[in-house]
Amino acid sequence: MPATIYPLRTPVKREKTPEDVGASLYRCVSALYPLHRCITGEGLRATLQIIGQKIPLKIHEVPTGTEVLDWIIPKEWEIREAWIAREDGTRIVDLADSPLHVVQYSTPVHAWMTLRRLRPNLHTLPKQPNLVPYRTSYYDEAWGFCLSERVLDRLAAEVGEDEELEVHIDSSLYDGSLTYGECVIPGKTDDEVLFSAHACHPALANDNASSLAVALALARHLEKRTNLRYTYRFLFAPGTIGAVTWLARNRRGVDRIKHGLVLANLGDAGDFTYKMTRRGTLDAPLAVDRAVSWSLRETNLDVRPFEPSGYDERQFGSPGFDLPVGRLTRTPHGEYPEYHTSGDNLDLVQPKALAESLEALIRFVDILEGDTVYQNTQPFGEPMLGRRGLHASSEGSESRRALLWVLNLSDGEHSLLSIAERCGLSFTAVRAAADRLLKERLLEAV
Ligand code: ZN
Repeated sequence: MPATIYPLRTPVKREKTPEDVGASLYRCVSALYPLHRCITGEGLRATLQIIGQKIPLKIHEVPTGTEVLDWIIPKEWEIREAWIAREDGTRIVDLADSPLHVVQYSTPVHAWMTLRRLRPNLHTLPKQPNLVPYRTSYYDEAWGFCLSERVLDRLAAEVGEDEELEVHIDSSLYDGSLTYGECVIPGKTDDEVLFSAHACHPALANDNASSLAVALALARHLEKRTNLRYTYRFLFAPGTIGAVTWLARNRRGVDRIKHGLVLANLGDAGDFTYKMTRRGTLDAPLAVDRAVSWSLRETNLDVRPFEPSGYDERQFGSPGFDLPVGRLTRTPHGEYPEYHTSGDNLDLVQPKALAESLEALIRFVDILEGDTVYQNTQPFGEPMLGRRGLHASSEGSESRRALLWVLNLSDGEHSLLSIAERCGLSFTAVRAAADRLLKERLLEAV
């Protein structure tokens, strides 16, 4: 019997599906999640190193004691061990199990003390008894442990308040530096779009590993694009002090930022929330505010005004800078029960949500890149579209409507985004209509 000969299959390069994108983003979140990030130190550097393996990232180190605006770069913190043990050596809480177990920036301690004496240094969440809180003490010298209320209750039941416990935190605070990373993707102009994601939370997945992964993927996407109009700057820095440091060191160049977004919490299953720019809230919405709204118009986007609390939009939107920087999240900080607890783990983050967040940001960039003001070259009466092959009956009504709207509102005043807002069509449809009209010389750039 002759052997069956199967033809060699030529591998077909498959387009990436949203599932592929989501899975790849989720892998990135999983790699970043467990690192012992803090506002300074090796966990932050390791995080930036992972990011720097994928995109060109310039790492900056700013020495302890440097004055940055009204702040001073703090000492660098290193943590090696942190645990509480019973007399028989059984460890009740151990940093080795999770970086959340120690208050960030804890000073060193080694002592024997009763639970009664130790209690002021223990942090739990009585209303969420199974979760470990995330606590920091960057600017006040303190030490402490975080544990679940359940573990604390069990300990109290087993040892009582007066048995001596061994308490050990092996940490150091020393003159080192604060680290941040910057990736710049050049475009045709020096006008910049800024994306900023804080990079200082240990073992928390949505806040902030999700936004690091999405920002990284967006930078990789932009790197592959040619002919970008804007220069794109990605800032990966510790919250508050990192943004303050970057602003202090770039004070003279910040005028180049024409649009910007702080990115956070982009992996949970909640709807998108956009916090407007300061200036857009006080006056009329800015281009960045409108571009975010339009790119997410088919979702249940919640648009909120600027307020001086939240993430680093507070620094970019401080009155001296007043930069056009809004904030995009899914569920905002403090509004999901797992926020700043051990419940913000890899189960909270969804590949589908990550992929949607990335797609939304790409649509946002497409609007910024494509938004232009044109002038109709035949403004007296409607130009004869049929003669130019622009009125084929086979075409959908949407593209015909887009042509008519673009022709009518391209009066040297209305940009394509404002035309899309007026007619309710997608920016893609309006941009495509403008491209066809440009080809027929019915439009010219202003
Ligand atoms: Zn946070």
